[in-house]
Amino acid sequence: MEHTGPKSIEAFSTAQQYIPGGVNSPARAFGAVGGNPPVISHGRGAHLFDLDGNEYIDYVCSWGPLVFGHAHPRVVQAVQEACLLGTSFGAPTQAETALARQIVQMVPSVEMVRMVNSGTEATMSAVRVARGFTGRDKILKFEGCWHGHGDSFLIKAGSSALTLGAPDSPGIPQAIAALSITVPYNDLSAVQEALRQNPGQIAAIIVEPVAGNMGTVPPRAGFLQQLRQLADQDGCVLIFDEVITGFRLSAGGAQEYFGVTPDMTCLGKIVGGGLPVGAYGGKRQIMEQVSPLGKKISQAGTLSGNPLAMKAGLVQLQMLSEPGVYARLEQLSQNLEAGMAENLKKLGLRYTLNRVGSMLCMFFTETQVVDYATACTADTARFRRFFWELLKRGVYMAPSQFECLFPSAVHSDGDVERTLRAHYEALKAIH
Ligand SMILES: *Cc1c(COP(=O)(O)O)cnc(C)c1O
Repeated sequence: MEHTGPKSIEAFSTAQQYIPGGVNSPARAFGAVGGNPPVISHGRGAHLFDLDGNEYIDYVCSWGPLVFGHAHPRVVQAVQEACLLGTSFGAPTQAETALARQIVQMVPSVEMVRMVNSGTEATMSAVRVARGFTGRDKILKFEGCWHGHGDSFLIKAGSSALTLGAPDSPGIPQAIAALSITVPYNDLSAVQEALRQNPGQIAAIIVEPVAGNMGTVPPRAGFLQQLRQLADQDGCVLIFDEVITGFRLSAGGAQEYFGVTPDMTCLGKIVGGGLPVGAYGGKRQIMEQVSPLGKKISQAGTLSGNPLAMKAGLVQLQMLSEPGVYARLEQLSQNLEAGMAENLKKLGLRYTLNRVGSMLCMFFTETQVVDYATACTADTARFRRFFWELLKRGVYMAPSQFECLFPSAVHSDGDVERTLRAHYEALKAIH
């Protein structure tokens, strides 16, 4: 059943000899769905091609960054022009200022911003800065949110509100786990309780304003507003991890979409136009404590602000600032959602569909999905069969139930139509 061609199988087996699991990021190994991943040769627009010549409509889009699809001519041109002038200097360039200014103009909470090379670096650095700024050590985060692979984030909740967090991976000291408190997403009373139990000790609340790493889970009405209030009362820093939602839900990200302004914001994915970029920023008063300024909170990077990456990110953000882009993303995503709902109805199925803008997920459960526990009611074995039935029909979605579909602004109406036909047939095939 696992549909992959002989060239992909051979290439992936070679990769496994030299790279752990054959991949540089574990989800690519298809562990959640089994089978051999297609090995990619190239992408064009909304379409992806593997070594065996199979073509797919791509809803992964590099896990979010490619909001204008693969190899967009304007992004390609920006990178080509930049690399002719030199690939890295480790000295100031105007390209850095141009992207920083663009981010400050687009994202409400960001008055100053520091570039890094990944979303992980952005969240790790933001937490360091929040700790340095407040002089407090603990952080509060939410179950099912993903903030990259920093030690402080790979911590699962203790068995009760009173037990310490536990490392989620070998290699993370219990002493670090003890500083991360994890509560259920959308659960304000758990947040209040955690703040009460740790008075004056929590440096930051970090949250995905729309959770995009347990499928798609929207914040309950008032959830983000209440977090804002609770953080103010407690004196901790409210960090929105907008690595997915930034520049996706609106030009100003989820904070503009929901009208709630955090103290700090983490960016990644879209901000780099498909090159490795992350960024963190926020209130001037906080960012002015980052080295070489103020309290000199340490954070550095040899390749940070890389000119190729800055140019790719800038052109993509400029394209997002042009009229009609978010309306197009919304319309496409709405059509996908409506079509999927219709397919489910035709087949007499009642699976949960969650969508916020161009973040979309069909959960194989009839339970309303509002947090990690409810997301886990999904039938992952059925997802796995569905995934392969879809892939066989030329639709490439993330190889896990707990990921979003990311339609791009260059998916055509024809792509959506083909996707919905495949969606219907794949569902039919597994029921
Ligand atoms: C992807 C992601 C990260 C990590 O970004 P990397 O570039 O993979 O390090 C952090 N936070 C969220 C919400 C993400 O989706």
